[in-house]
Amino acid sequence: MERLSDIGEIKRILSKHGFTFSKAMGQNFLVNPSVCPRMAEMCGADDKTGVLEIGPGIGVLTNELCKVARKVVAIELDTRLLPVLEETLAEHQNVKVINADVMKVDLHKLISEEFSGMEVVVCANLPYYITSPIIMKLLEDKLPINALTVMVQKEAADRLCAEVGSRESGAVTVAVNYYSSAEKLFGVSRGSFMPAPNVDSAVIRLNVSKKPRIDVKDEKLFFKMVKSAFSQRRKTISNSVTSGLSLSKDSFKTACENAGISPTARAEALTLEELGNLANAIYDIK
Ligand code: SAM
Repeated sequence: MERLSDIGEIKRILSKHGFTFSKAMGQNFLVNPSVCPRMAEMCGADDKTGVLEIGPGIGVLTNELCKVARKVVAIELDTRLLPVLEETLAEHQNVKVINADVMKVDLHKLISEEFSGMEVVVCANLPYYITSPIIMKLLEDKLPINALTVMVQKEAADRLCAEVGSRESGAVTVAVNYYSSAEKLFGVSRGSFMPAPNVDSAVIRLNVSKKPRIDVKDEKLFFKMVKSAFSQRRKTISNSVTSGLSLSKDSFKTACENAGISPTARAEALTLEELGNLANAIYDIK
């Protein structure tokens, strides 16, 4: 639908369908006409690419994605939006809407069934209440996707795109950097949404690496250690990691010596490689 990015048209469609916004489902719809074409252009989609969208809303971004991609599959939780999407996406033959909770979908199966023989990217304006869980699911499931281009709250963007080893970094920064390289594409003001949220947003792109960016001997142990280290970020790693992993202070000191890391360091001061080395040294003494 050509005029879909026009706020008057969006209001007309929503009122025609008697739609009311659900805060619980993170419904802040884009009403700034310049944002969706930019996201569609920068997400890496072309006529050989399948795009997975999460939360199409009334289909403003979906509409732009359909113009550049070979196929778009959009997963929407809110059943009330299905008749709206049927109307707004009527002119496109290359789109499929699936009514489901993205957290419960087998995405490996979906990608192999829907995007056979295509390169795959994710492009979405994510519901803010589950931004990190969705991003973590997409990365941890090791899906055959090249990149995730997503709109998130500005604070989340800062954390996701922070450098590991900087003050802004957190456990999610480490996870994102383990699986991908993150870049901030552009900021989006709160006034670009209806209803307007209390914070600004940003579009980021996570370029997914073919294999993790560091070698760890035991991924589960690595992430457990990272979570413990950042859960009490003001404490030294000696305090946070020993309690999180039920390790004695002496064993942890030996692991630190073997990895060349000070046990009195704080998690946010360690690089991705140092965190990997520390987890491997703990694995070796366990
Ligand atoms: N893409 C639209 C836009 O940019 O205007 C809507 C974005 S809005 C921030 C988030 C969308 O995600 C809503 O349509 C909401 O209903 C949907 N949603 C919320 N939780 C979801 C879930 N668990 N699985 C799939 N969709 C979800």
